[in-house]
Amino acid sequence: MRKSLFNTLDDFCYRDKTVILRVDINSPLDPVTKTIVNDNRLDKSIPTLKELLEQGAKIVLLAHQGDTLDYHNLIPLTEHAQKLSKKVGQHIDYIDDAAGPAAEAAVQALKPGEAVLLGNVRYLTEEVSTFEDSVSLSVSEMAECYLIRRLAPLADYYVNDAFSAAHRNAPSMVGFTAVLPTAAGRQLVKEVSALEKIMKTPASPAVFVLGGLKIADAFGMIEGVLKNGSADSILTGGVLGIVMLMAGGTEFSREQTRFVYERGLGTFLKPAERYLRDYGDRFVNPKDFAFRDGPMRREVDSKDLLKACGLLMDIGEKTIQVYRRMLNEAGSIFINGPMGVYEDPLFSQGTKEVWKAAADSSGYSVVGGGDSVNAAVSLVDDAENRFSYICTAGGALVRYLSGMELPLIKALKEAYRKV
Ligand code: ADP
Ligand code: MG
Repeated sequence: MRKSLFNTLDDFCYRDKTVILRVDINSPLDPVTKTIVNDNRLDKSIPTLKELLEQGAKIVLLAHQGDTLDYHNLIPLTEHAQKLSKKVGQHIDYIDDAAGPAAEAAVQALKPGEAVLLGNVRYLTEEVSTFEDSVSLSVSEMAECYLIRRLAPLADYYVNDAFSAAHRNAPSMVGFTAVLPTAAGRQLVKEVSALEKIMKTPASPAVFVLGGLKIADAFGMIEGVLKNGSADSILTGGVLGIVMLMAGGTEFSREQTRFVYERGLGTFLKPAERYLRDYGDRFVNPKDFAFRDGPMRREVDSKDLLKACGLLMDIGEKTIQVYRRMLNEAGSIFINGPMGVYEDPLFSQGTKEVWKAAADSSGYSVVGGGDSVNAAVSLVDDAENRFSYICTAGGALVRYLSGMELPLIKALKEAYRKV
């Protein structure tokens, strides 16, 4: 990343200053106990937090958890504060109030080198995407929002380290940049640098491995990276691989075709045909697939798919061989979307082998997306050290690679120009 894109932690001195630090520690929860099942984002937020504590800042942590639409995982951040305390080696209080009088009192009581985590910001309507979708506020209009009005006067600086929420145009993400000197945290700079490497200066050959089920996301990216030349090859798998082959005229069973249409994925066949027409030589689609035969895994050639029974659940051995060879020779690799139903041990092989090939390649490798990261961590030993970068972001990552300017990145750039 160009050094002059945003302010970083290096640009200000935080001793005795009150710093609002927005992190993304929104974590997957156990559906029954509602306890955190994966600390990945909490871990990634530690370096910036530690650095600011060591500098003697008074830190006001802001974060969200869960979704308001169905109250899914929308819980207080008590356990988050406990885990952060343990990881950082000092007590961090949780105040179950985002910006009201209790939050204000807690901020005013902070001493240098202390931190407090305030209430889940999604308690506030102005923070949720339904609000954002129907009321679109500019960054300066956001300065009038409750959260900013209440907290900004108590603080000296705003630091954002929440790249994985960078696509959210919410007050906690961008509003403070209008009224406080603003810097990007360490994690954010790392993520943007890794993605810039993939997007702007990829070592060639640049190989994209795209699969999974969220075809809309994949298609947004495909268009961008084919047009701007970031991808020399796109290796497809998962349901995306099936849709690409379908668009190219491969015959699938009635059950598999129904699967694609019932999920509303039929609408992607037309754009897929266009990609194949305009950039056909850059796609590498599955040569074979695996399916369930009683308790067994069986494989079938892509030319013979009518011989398969049931749904296609994974790429087959021939495809794995081809992808392995291409990844071995790649200069840069971006992975998003599993090759098969990796949650089922019978069909995890394609994802596991392809992920391992990417991890072992000497090329620069980035993996992103919820399931893709989960697959990397659960199927590849020592994934954290074998991939060049494991991205914490999902939605933000996909939009970034589609060439969209994310609200947070735009706000950080504008804040940089102001200082
Ligand atoms: P990510 O979260 O990494 O962005 P997606 O959410 O797009 O990835 O896709 C992951 C899901 O895709 C997994 O739940 C996996 O089981 C599913 N999947 C992959 N291949 C197939 C397939 N052939 N048929 C049905 N589901 C698949
Ligand atoms: Mg997913």
